[in-house]
Amino acid sequence: MLHRRRVAGLISAALAFVSVGLAHPGTAQAAPGTSVTTAVTEKLLNQNALTGRGVSPQETRVRITREKGGTWAFGTAVVVAPKKEGAAPTGAVFVARAEGGAWTVAFDGEPAFADLAAASPVVTAYEKKLFASARTAADAEVAGAEGSSGDLVQPLANGDFRTGMALPWSTGASWTLTGGGHQWDGASGPYSSVDFAGGDQAVRAARAGAAYTLCSGFVRVIHDRGYASDYYHLTGHINANGAAVSQGTFLGNTGTNVACGGSATGRHVHFGLRQNNAYVPIADHGIGGWVFYTTGSYAGYAMHGSTTRGAGSALTNYGALGLTQGIVDANGGGAVNKRSGPGTGYAVVGSVADGAVVTVSCSRNGTSHEGRFGVTSLWDRLSDGTWISDAYLWTGYNGAVNGTC
Ligand SMILES: [Zn+2]
Repeated sequence: MLHRRRVAGLISAALAFVSVGLAHPGTAQAAPGTSVTTAVTEKLLNQNALTGRGVSPQETRVRITREKGGTWAFGTAVVVAPKKEGAAPTGAVFVARAEGGAWTVAFDGEPAFADLAAASPVVTAYEKKLFASARTAADAEVAGAEGSSGDLVQPLANGDFRTGMALPWSTGASWTLTGGGHQWDGASGPYSSVDFAGGDQAVRAARAGAAYTLCSGFVRVIHDRGYASDYYHLTGHINANGAAVSQGTFLGNTGTNVACGGSATGRHVHFGLRQNNAYVPIADHGIGGWVFYTTGSYAGYAMHGSTTRGAGSALTNYGALGLTQGIVDANGGGAVNKRSGPGTGYAVVGSVADGAVVTVSCSRNGTSHEGRFGVTSLWDRLSDGTWISDAYLWTGYNGAVNGTC
């Protein structure tokens, strides 16, 4: 089960996106003779104008990191932020191809990005595979979304809040959630980001992927399934250009780096969640064994089973939750009974503690129960062959996470 309280917000965000999607298809084509830097800058400014911030071209930084034969280019494009509280730079990894002297540019997370990258000689095999996994996920979501255009990227979780991410520091360690959900750039968009500080201050990749240093202190890791995670204010950070990283790979130290804009009153990492080509609400997503909820700008809390931790308190990094795993949520109770079959008519064969992580083998319908997230008749068969009601398991998905039994 997953939390459904924020449906109204998701719908309004989805509607807001539709207008963006219609106004700006996945690729931008510049006039013949235009340089790739100009073409990328134009696309960046067009996209940024939609956020309402409005920037001058002097505030953009386009860096070409790979090119071939004047027909292919790859690199990063960033809009530097004003030096004000809450602001942060935004940007993209781009791939561009010139045909007949005109550049076609796509940004990471757009369907066209995976397609262009697949054909590009300057994109590594690892990147191609990673970007294609996002394309496949987007296609699957589009196919399942009635009335959607095939060209429309789905920027929202679409009912699936499984990220497979750990918190961005060493597993098992505790850091402080210094700021609840807020906007990445302080100017537009959903509450996609949270602030963390503490521990050994070493910021680590939340999940495996390809890492890119977009700007001083600003690293993006593009993951599978269309997700990406952003990290800002880093000092002593890696200078990456598509490096394959694992979950836990060092990215940089927390800091107060504002070389690319924004402000920082104390050392921390500004951590943002993206899916496809946009920042998405971090709320309802599972990261490091915690499910995040936002109650206002910089306000919110995280839950691990029935344990609630508000902004200002410490979170232990429980590591990544597997896509077929769940966190037991006894809805205030200490434990949940395990049964020999999918219903309370079956014998109790043990119990599993609130907060425990379990692996689901398959699911089927049984007796109906009400948990924190609502009523369901779905039961999950665990890897040890016993069953618990899906009402008491946070999986990040409303339905069977590993097929039906
Ligand atoms: Zn922040």
